[in-house]
Amino acid sequence: MTAIGRPPGLAVVLVGNNPASEVYVRNKTKTAGELGIYNESITPEASISTESMLQLIRVLNLRPEIDGILVQLPLPAHIDEHKILLAVAPEKDVDGFHPYNAGLLATGRPGLRPCTPAGVIQMLKRYNIPIAGEHAVVVGRSTIVGKPMALLLLEENATVTICHSKTRDLAAVCREADILVAAIGRAAMITERYIKPGAVVIDVGMNSVTEPADAKRIFDATRLAAFGKRGSLLVGDVHPGDVARVSSAYTPVPGGVGPLTIAMLMQNTIEAAERRHGVDPDAQLNDRC
Ligand code: NDP
Repeated sequence: MTAIGRPPGLAVVLVGNNPASEVYVRNKTKTAGELGIYNESITPEASISTESMLQLIRVLNLRPEIDGILVQLPLPAHIDEHKILLAVAPEKDVDGFHPYNAGLLATGRPGLRPCTPAGVIQMLKRYNIPIAGEHAVVVGRSTIVGKPMALLLLEENATVTICHSKTRDLAAVCREADILVAAIGRAAMITERYIKPGAVVIDVGMNSVTEPADAKRIFDATRLAAFGKRGSLLVGDVHPGDVARVSSAYTPVPGGVGPLTIAMLMQNTIEAAERRHGVDPDAQLNDRC
């Protein structure tokens, strides 16, 4: 129960039958259920039109017991994703993807923050890893991870460099980082030569390795055996062996950043409920921590 006198409510919209999305949504609703957050999944067929999706979002925007709306991405190609995300009421935008919330972040004002980068900041703080004055290098500039990650690190007074596919001599720039965040989507691309000895490395990437040659380059004997049995294995954007050897602290994949994203979604849902009821979530957060 929260300061609003009823459980917060979360609606998750999952379009079609993308197996990875189904797993993500199951994990999110399971966690919500365990925390006593009212939740419902809405699962339209993959053939739903943009207009019908917009109508569905409008209804959720109006329902008083729904505090948070999450549209699981990616949407089928024929649906206008931009229009859909824009239709979510900003005060219910628990993913923090709406341009209104992106604007609040960019201007340093309180608001709903994208879950993955917000989770990374929480993790750094809770492990007492200094951010202020440190040089943070973020590889990736997506609106979901890279850009908000850079802005949140800036908000914490890091000196921030953002890299992307056109960055010249990426390894040299990364080697300058005290805190290196990889949000690229390339299996184990960040190897030893990208990491300054003693740096803190945050691996946001989630990639499925299916080629035996890639598996040999990336995994140790134990994980290679698991790969042999399953035929695929999850890896981040950072080479797991190299980062363990060179960094002072790092997030493993799986098990590092991923679960935090769900935790932050829950926190955003509670914050959204509190804001909608005129309760100051920052004061409540101090009580919860
Ligand atoms: P996007 O594909 O939207 O963005 C990838 C970024 O990486 C782009 O900015 C791109 O540059 C940059 N990039 C790609 N290749 C290179 C390269 N060779 N050198 C330098 N930069 C490169 O991905 P997302 O941001 O959505 O996701 C990134 C990763 O994080 C994925 O693996 C995704 O699965 C994972 N993820 C994990 C989450 C979690 O909960 N753990 C949540 C969300 C995402 P450019 O802009 O120039 O194209």
